[in-house]
Amino acid sequence: MRLLFIFLDGVGLGENDPVHNPFATANLPTLAGFTDGRRWLRGLPRIESQTGVFIPTDACLGVDGKPQSATGQATILTGINVPERLGRHYGPRPNRQIAEIIEHDNVISTLKARGADIAFANAFPSTFFESVRRGKRLLSANQLALHTADVRFPDAEALRDGRALSVEFTGEGWRNRFGADGVPILTPFEAGQHLAQLAGQHTLTFFDHWLTDYVGHRGTLQEAVALLETLDGVMAGILDAWDRSEGLVVLTSDHGNIEETGLRGHTYNPIPTLIAGQSWPIFADGLTDLTGITPGILRTLLRDIE
Ligand SMILES: [Zn+2]
Repeated sequence: MRLLFIFLDGVGLGENDPVHNPFATANLPTLAGFTDGRRWLRGLPRIESQTGVFIPTDACLGVDGKPQSATGQATILTGINVPERLGRHYGPRPNRQIAEIIEHDNVISTLKARGADIAFANAFPSTFFESVRRGKRLLSANQLALHTADVRFPDAEALRDGRALSVEFTGEGWRNRFGADGVPILTPFEAGQHLAQLAGQHTLTFFDHWLTDYVGHRGTLQEAVALLETLDGVMAGILDAWDRSEGLVVLTSDHGNIEETGLRGHTYNPIPTLIAGQSWPIFADGLTDLTGITPGILRTLLRDIE
């Protein structure tokens, strides 16, 4: 069994509001394919099909205040209700207490200790490694979990060699910021196929897509629509190249944001969890909030390893 885990930062299920919510207007046939053709909006129920399940997922976790990235991601990757333990939502980067929870135990470390082959599929530019080394950049909760488990962070060379993708999938954003230098440009569909092929070589492949939160904070509705349509194309490519009897593709988020573009800040909305692949019921069992992701990953992958 294999698992391709695509983390989307800041994606929630919001109102049918075409002025602020890109999900209300974007053309997203692949995503809607999992929800009977309906748009990903607030109020959608859990929807099961042969190809997967869509689960509106609570990110508030019974704690007052707007959900934040550090506590949300830490909850996703430990199964612990981290905001409850802290008494508040906190982010974007982990404080000492959150870092200690992640370093003590997380799903990536657990799998690694059982011998799972884990890949991080995001390429990082040399400036990222330099600023981490100089102590000028704190790792995100996701990155900290991967780092704690000694999972390799791909660099520019890995991107050029096709062993990783840039955060915006296609390579165009990377070229604009860091120069061409042999970086392949892919269509969203090709990028998805490529990600699926990479994930076919590992037990767990983690892709961390934080642009959705970035665009939710700073972008326009148009940019948000374009980003979601790219994501839909990537998903189409993944599903095209993915063996659904051999593994799951899981898409989830830490808190809402992009569904209220232009309004600034995170939201209290449920987030979408999508689990695609034949054995989705094993993963989805009991999943209603962010604490259900780690148990789902372990149920899915540990059966094979043990
Ligand atoms: Zn944010």
